[in-house]
Amino acid sequence: MRYISTRGEAPALGFEDVLLTGLATDGGLYVPESLPHFSLEEIRSWRGLPYSELAFKVMHPFVDDAIPADDFRKMLDETYSVFAHKAVAPLVQLDTNEWVMELFRGPTLAFKDFALQLLGRLLDYVLEKRKQHVVIMGATSGDTGSAAIEGCRRCEHVDIFILHPHQRVSEVQRRQMTTVQGDNIHNIAVRGNFDDCQRMVKESFGNQSFLGAKTQLAAVNSINWARIMAQIVYYFHASLALGGPDRSMAFSVPTGNFGDIFAGYLAKKMGLPISQLVIATNRNDILHRFMSGNKYEQHQLEHTLSPSMDIMVSSNFERLLFDLHGRDGLAVKTLLENAAKGPVSIEDYRWKHARKLFDSDAVDDKTTCDTIREIYEQNEYLLDPHTAIGVRAARNCRRDPAVPMITLGTAHPAKFPDAVAESGLTVEPPLPAHMADLFEREERYTVLDNDISGVQEFIAKHWKNA
Ligand SMILES: *Cc1c(COP(=O)(O)O)cnc(C)c1O
Repeated sequence: MRYISTRGEAPALGFEDVLLTGLATDGGLYVPESLPHFSLEEIRSWRGLPYSELAFKVMHPFVDDAIPADDFRKMLDETYSVFAHKAVAPLVQLDTNEWVMELFRGPTLAFKDFALQLLGRLLDYVLEKRKQHVVIMGATSGDTGSAAIEGCRRCEHVDIFILHPHQRVSEVQRRQMTTVQGDNIHNIAVRGNFDDCQRMVKESFGNQSFLGAKTQLAAVNSINWARIMAQIVYYFHASLALGGPDRSMAFSVPTGNFGDIFAGYLAKKMGLPISQLVIATNRNDILHRFMSGNKYEQHQLEHTLSPSMDIMVSSNFERLLFDLHGRDGLAVKTLLENAAKGPVSIEDYRWKHARKLFDSDAVDDKTTCDTIREIYEQNEYLLDPHTAIGVRAARNCRRDPAVPMITLGTAHPAKFPDAVAESGLTVEPPLPAHMADLFEREERYTVLDNDISGVQEFIAKHWKNA
């Protein structure tokens, strides 16, 4: 399998290189040159497979001969055995033909574990083969940092440095990062805000000379192709559990960077019968505004009760734009260069095509809280604020009650107790049993000044073979 850039000018790469590369050299994102397609008969034959075996069927064509089949199977078995539920992604029923797929049974209680648990293992496998080492550097305001740290904790060939704004992430989120023990894990609390952290990461990628010649930086942010790939699997899993592929499914996906929902779009293109895909956003609604009015325009960042979806631009949306433009990289390049300067639109017929593929909705904080309360009153089931946005959008946009509607449950409610409290409920979502001692575990992190040279010096001094 070859991968090409959405901006048409970077060289095509194989799976291994795509894994280690963030942005393409032309500023684009990598996508598969062609998608595998599965017949209904083949998909039907996967009924009853354990999650990791299904994951092998769906992902193997993307990995191809980069990893021998037996090694890849073993890796997937390990990856999905760390989830605290035998079904890995269990489905919970909310109403007649309405479901939540719980994607939060992994080590950090959010769906990012599905991809990052695999990504850590993939990276280590490829680096072992190549006798290379990488330093992962990332900035986080919460979820991604902990999932990345958990994903890399057993990697021999990876050191990970995660920057978070000192005293500005929730205690649960900080502890999920800082209580993971491992010589290759380095938490840095920067005396600054999230933007300061992100700027330092960006500048470090631009000039890596501080690291010397023996290692290089790698990124695990949401544009990494392997993350999208891992997220395709659970659409097949949900469908097969509810009578697919012999009936069609609808999905509602809480999204910010368009990663998770793009994976659903790919599942459909790969042959899975999906009749509706709902983009569910919070007040940071650039995607919903584009879908409703054909205007892609950056607004100010809003801080909401669903912080993992607080974005101004939606990085993976570029991958859809590439398809909407008949895979014309130059057209995408021009469009996105213009989008950086002001609002842009696409040709009407292309936009109409996008509207056929997706429905969308934007949900504010008050409605998010109302939904948490409503579902609790109906079912005694607690939603986290991100999932609540998905459920609200699903109910608002649903077209056919005969089609099962599945909302992706992206986080455990215990990660976001503030939203639950604000919804007026007096229940407190408890941490799951395997995390109940989170507040007693030993923390390890280093507080550094808001100064890039100090941070870079720390990294250069503390990676494994420094
Ligand atoms: C990251 C995240 C999202 C958004 O996912 P995207 O792939 O960026 O759209 C939604 N909910 C939770 C809990 C997340 O951590």
